[in-house]
Amino acid sequence: PVALYIVPTPIGNLADLTPRAQQVLAEVTLIACEDTRHSGKLLSHFGITTRTVALHDHNERAKAQWFIEKLAAGEAVALISDAGTPLISDPGYHLVSQVREAGFDVSPLPGACAAITALSASGLPSDRFSFEGFLPAKEKGRIDKLTELREDPRTLIFYESPHRIVPSLASLEQVFGSERQMVMARELTKTFETFLTGTISEVRAKVESDANQQKGEIVLMCHGFVSQVNDEFPPKALATLQLLCDELP
Ligand code: SAM
Repeated sequence: PVALYIVPTPIGNLADLTPRAQQVLAEVTLIACEDTRHSGKLLSHFGITTRTVALHDHNERAKAQWFIEKLAAGEAVALISDAGTPLISDPGYHLVSQVREAGFDVSPLPGACAAITALSASGLPSDRFSFEGFLPAKEKGRIDKLTELREDPRTLIFYESPHRIVPSLASLEQVFGSERQMVMARELTKTFETFLTGTISEVRAKVESDANQQKGEIVLMCHGFVSQVNDEFPPKALATLQLLCDELP
């Protein structure tokens, strides 16, 4: 049926492109992608010959109207990005909102997303979390952003680039303190998949002392804020207090 299909692509391991994703990409008339050359390689690996059209941050608002005309002409369209789920720190927001506004269906396929993949194996609380995308590149902006998040009780998830991993870990330690638990997931689904776990200062020390840990694709996750009040009264002391309270008149 005529719709805009949102199709996640692998974040490293090509076998993670689902059979349904392959089918949709082969059957639509047009594939909107960030970089036609990059996606061309993926598509040719799967023998998919559908026409690709570039849709990136710089032309998205203008180009959306062109895709809406194609939908109006009865052509089904798929949206992919360079890796993972479109719209998640990737283009697509303007296209999806404009296509919906124009009254066409938008149908998402489930698939790879680095944030969710990392969180699922992190060992950090996953009942509540906040995806924060990339931290600002400049130190001042980064510190301000982290200060805003310092007392958030949810697990925090950040994307990071290898060029900025060292200064970003320094900012995390500066604002969240050295003792907070964190996990750094690197090169998910690829040969050198690595999880570094520990306090912020421990993870930072491992990364700073090993240049290999500063390469590749990175997801940073921090334990949410834990109120210090609980640390002053260990569970045992609280239990004893409760017993005493029960006995008091
Ligand atoms: N749309 C993608 C998704 O669904 O995850 C994210 C695109 S964003 C431009 C790229 C960032 O995602 C990388 O800088 C890194 O932080 C993270 N990322 C992508 N692939 C990854 C992988 N295999 N391992 C760890 N992080 C990854």
